[in-house]
This record gives sequence, structure tokens and C-alpha cells, in this order.
Amino acid sequence: MSKLWNIAIVGATGAVGSQMIECLEERDFPVGTIRYLASARSAGEVLEFRGRPVVVEELTHDSFEGIDIALFSAGGDRSREFCPSARKAGAVCIDNSSAWRMDPDVPLVVPEVNPHAIAQYDRKGIIANPNCSTIQMVVALKPLHDAATIKRIVVSTYQAVSGTGKKAIDELEQQVRGLMQGRSPEVRVYPHRIAFNCLPQIDAFGDNGYTGEEMKMVNETRKIMEADIRVTATAVRVPVFYGHCESVNIETEKKLTADQARQLIKKAAGCKLVDNVSKGLYPMPTDAAGQDLTYVGRIREDESVENGLNLWVVADNIRKGAATNAVQIAEILIDNYLK
Ligand code: NAP
Repeated sequence: MSKLWNIAIVGATGAVGSQMIECLEERDFPVGTIRYLASARSAGEVLEFRGRPVVVEELTHDSFEGIDIALFSAGGDRSREFCPSARKAGAVCIDNSSAWRMDPDVPLVVPEVNPHAIAQYDRKGIIANPNCSTIQMVVALKPLHDAATIKRIVVSTYQAVSGTGKKAIDELEQQVRGLMQGRSPEVRVYPHRIAFNCLPQIDAFGDNGYTGEEMKMVNETRKIMEADIRVTATAVRVPVFYGHCESVNIETEKKLTADQARQLIKKAAGCKLVDNVSKGLYPMPTDAAGQDLTYVGRIREDESVENGLNLWVVADNIRKGAATNAVQIAEILIDNYLK
């Protein structure tokens, strides 16, 4: 029988944590024991793993005894504070927060793009999972970059509220219900109402006028693609529950026709080509939600530059944008690196 691995899920009660539980189940990950960790608010709550009850425990520095892999999705502060304790106890951390992503000693990994970076996991015992919008963009761009070398990316995102976690999913639902019944909506999670609205702000604004989310896309893309690509981003929150969309414009060194790009996407790991405009077929969040693939369509040549393409990229932000990507990293880790 193959080895079983002891897993801790930090943030098990959250949007990403619950999806991680499902992904481990669906992908038949060889789990020995599993520990669910969250805040004191959830301690004692009973969740399941493969039909068996698992009691949620409060996250403490002693939570990682006997754990092989700790999947973190409880916010950057918890990752900064508790990944070192998990490491001390002998666990490898796969972290969904932004806390460690740009640390030069922490690999930032999308398995379809730079799986080799996992080899550096033991520098700090942490592997970072990129930002959800970045993951789906690089999955779609990797085959195009390999074929034609991307020089510049201009991306605008249309991001679902689930990217902000459980509270935001509830807020959109409550605001929509309230507005339909003529009540004025309560605004708690976002700076403005999100129902029937679009917010060109995700995360705080920096001194350069860009938001944290936009700068994550710039910096993380370059780290994952291991290339000096110029990237500029506009990140927008839209009233969709699950599935981020992106309008992506690229300039390449070599010419790629739209047809060549379609062929490359069709064969690329992790991508699904949905591109038949004569039949009204293009990617939408309603199709990508609940799936692990990155959907790519509306591929067309940018007629305003010599070598340019436009594409529309959609993926489930909680699955490929977070939980699935983390579990895929764990699979590579146990297959190739851990004993
Ligand atoms: P969420 O639904 O709000 O869940 C947050 C989780 O963190 C809950 O399990 C919560 O436990 C736990 N937590 C909060 N404070 C804690 C504390 N003091 N000690 C221990 N646990 C604590 O948020 P989410 O969307 O799952 O996001 C979690 C992390 O993943 C964030 O770092 C986020 O940036 C990252 N991420 C999210 C996405 C996405 O699309 N949602 C994508 C990529 C990365 P309680 O239930 O006890 O409060």
C-alpha cells in the first residue's frame, strides 16, 4: 500500500478551506489523518472527511505535531505567524495567502507552468499558491509564451465575490434579495454596494494608484513565468458568485495567428478552448464554476499592433484559483520530493 500523508487544513471552515477538503476527496489524495483548524469561533464545529466526522480545532502553535503537509488558507497574518511553527513540527506548508509569495526563498507555483520550482520547497518549507487571477492567466499564457515569447500583457479582470471569502458571498446574496424587495442594502465587506454594480477596486490602493490585487498580477506573473514580461492590470469586482473572467491582451516577439493560438490552447495542460463565435460559444463563469480547467476563448489578433492577440480567460477562482492548485502542488510534492 502506498504511503498515507497527515494533512492539516488551516482555514478549513472558509470558502477555500472547504473546497480543499472536497479536492482532497475528489482527487483521492492519500490522506492518513486530517486535522481541520480555524479560529476559536469555529472550534468544536463538526465537518466531514470522506463521510467521517472531523472536529474543527482552534489554530495554535502546537497544531502541527505529526503533520506532513499543512494547507493554509486563513489569511496572510495567520500564514506569517503559523507557517514557521508548522515547519518546526516538520510539515511542509502550501500557503494560499499573499504572505510569502514574493519571498525569493519561497517557490510560487502553478503546476502547469513551473512545477520544477517545487524543488526549492525546503529552503523555507513553504510553497506559495499564487493569487487566483494570476493563476488562470498564466495557465492560458504559458503555451503562447513558449511558442512566441510574450513581451507585454495588458489585463482587465472581472472577479467574482467568492474571491473575498464566505462573507462576501453572503453579502451579494443579501443585497440582491434586499434590493429586489425594495430595501436599501447593507454594505459591510466592500467599500460600496456590489449587487448590480462593478467596483474597480480590489484590495487597497498603493502610492502608484494601482491596487494590491493589480500589483500581485504584475509581480507574481513575472516570478511564475520566470520572464521579464511587462504587465499592467486593472482588477474589477463584479456581482458574480463563482468564476473570475479576464480580458487579456498580449504582445509577442514572434507572430502568432489566432488559429495558431487556438491550436496551442487546445493542446495545453489545464486549458479548455471554448471559441466558436459563429455558434455563440465563449467561456463564461456559469460554465467554468465547479470545474478545474481554465477556459479560453474570443481569441483574435490585435489589429492595432504588429504581433498581438486578445483573449478571454475564465476559471473557478476557488478551485483552480486556490484549492485545486494547492492540492496539485501537494500531489507533485508527495510523488517527487517527500519520502
Ligand atoms: P474565508 O471564507 O473568509 O475563510 C477564512 C478562513 O480563515 C476561515 O476558516 C476562518 O475561520 C479562518 N480564520 C480567520 N481568522 C482566523 C484566526 N485568527 N485563526 C485561525 N483561523 C482563522 O476566506 P477564503 O476566501 O477562504 O480565503 C482564505 C485565504 O485564501 C485568504 O488568505 C485569501 O487571500 C486566500 N485566497 C482566497 C481565494 C479565493 O478565491 N477566495 C483565492 C486565492 C487565495 P473561522 O471560520 O473560524 O472564522
